[in-house]
Amino acid sequence: MAYRNEQLNEEKVFKDPVHRYVHIRDRVIWDLVGAPEFQRLRRIKQLGTSYLTFHGAEHSRFNHSLGVYEIVRRIIYNFEDRPNWNPEDRLLILCAALLHDLGHGPFSHSFEKVFKLDHEDFTQQILLGDTTINAILKKVENGFPQKVADVINKTYENKLIVSLISSQIDADRMDYLQRDAYFTGVSYGHFDMERILRVMRPMEDQVVVKESGMHAVEDYIMSRYQMYWQVYFHPVTRSAEVILSKILHRAKELHENDYAFKLKPTHFLSFFAEKPTLKEYLELDEAVTMYYFQIWMNEDDPILSDLCERFVNRRLFKYIEFNPNHQMNEWMELFRLFQKAGLNPDYYLVVDSSSDLPYDFYRPGEEEERLPIHLLMPNQELKELSRQSEIVESISGKKRTDHKLYFPLDRLEELSSRSKTKKRILEILYR
Ligand code: CA
Repeated sequence: MAYRNEQLNEEKVFKDPVHRYVHIRDRVIWDLVGAPEFQRLRRIKQLGTSYLTFHGAEHSRFNHSLGVYEIVRRIIYNFEDRPNWNPEDRLLILCAALLHDLGHGPFSHSFEKVFKLDHEDFTQQILLGDTTINAILKKVENGFPQKVADVINKTYENKLIVSLISSQIDADRMDYLQRDAYFTGVSYGHFDMERILRVMRPMEDQVVVKESGMHAVEDYIMSRYQMYWQVYFHPVTRSAEVILSKILHRAKELHENDYAFKLKPTHFLSFFAEKPTLKEYLELDEAVTMYYFQIWMNEDDPILSDLCERFVNRRLFKYIEFNPNHQMNEWMELFRLFQKAGLNPDYYLVVDSSSDLPYDFYRPGEEEERLPIHLLMPNQELKELSRQSEIVESISGKKRTDHKLYFPLDRLEELSSRSKTKKRILEILYR
């Protein structure tokens, strides 16, 4: 039998806390799950530094990837006999769902910013390069790896398929909202996915939702909104993220200034140079990263060792609301005072704004690459969700940027009680 259609003798099921079970029948999917590049996702957390805020949030990108696969599997099971659906696309869409996050690295957000990397670029390299994943996909058909890569890259000609994995109501978001809610333990993030799957309909170039399912979709949008503020933007998570970025910056800077590390940071060298090969990229997972942080706690450089000790032992920075655009004078004064107090402001006085996080809530029309949600009206007309739903209209399109200033309060408190610098700093921070 052709590899494309080969079925396992017995269906494999993974127990899953969110979807109860993940079902695998295709030999191809089973082989992909077993590939080293996919197994590596077990060692990359889905929510980066959120576990330092919500101790349950240790779930991995492996969990999430299987979840996205399972949701897509259920969606297309419902599509089977519908017009606009071509059953031949089944394997392609399942593979794309399973593999869409393959290129994520350790703490992706900070690593990408500091070392100027792009996980989507590595996803493409893993699919198309010399990897086990590529060898498996090629067995389906020579051009198959490229097709999967195009779907994930949103450049595939069939936009219906693309929209199942990346649109405003795609399987990716439906999985991570529920999964992140489950593992953080928050009471938001839950919505009636079963209902949404039942009212999804394939159109020629996108997936739409029957108007009767509008309230279930409203609930999904609300849960996105609440998860955004409650979990993804949590200021404590961002404090840990700030420290993590500063560790990477410091290590890179030391390396560029020929600092003699006690242990050669072998795994990081190609990252410092901002050009890791695929092999080097895949070798640096979160376990390896944490290993170096532990080692660096004993480095002679006081900034690197302090930041690593903070991250490993969760001694995070405190924060206040602070917008440097409106508080330029205070910002400049704090900068000088920190220098005076012996705290390098490049590392210990950090403004962080919510606008550069990889999450958002519903903003129809603002994100060109993600299709907005369309309702299918009884007369077969399509209407954009926020034009029909007052709830969605009222929360969509709002941009609320949140700026915070992060600093090590413990280090300030250590300064002598007679220090005028200390007194003035605390005055500005806590006035
Ligand atoms: Ca994802």
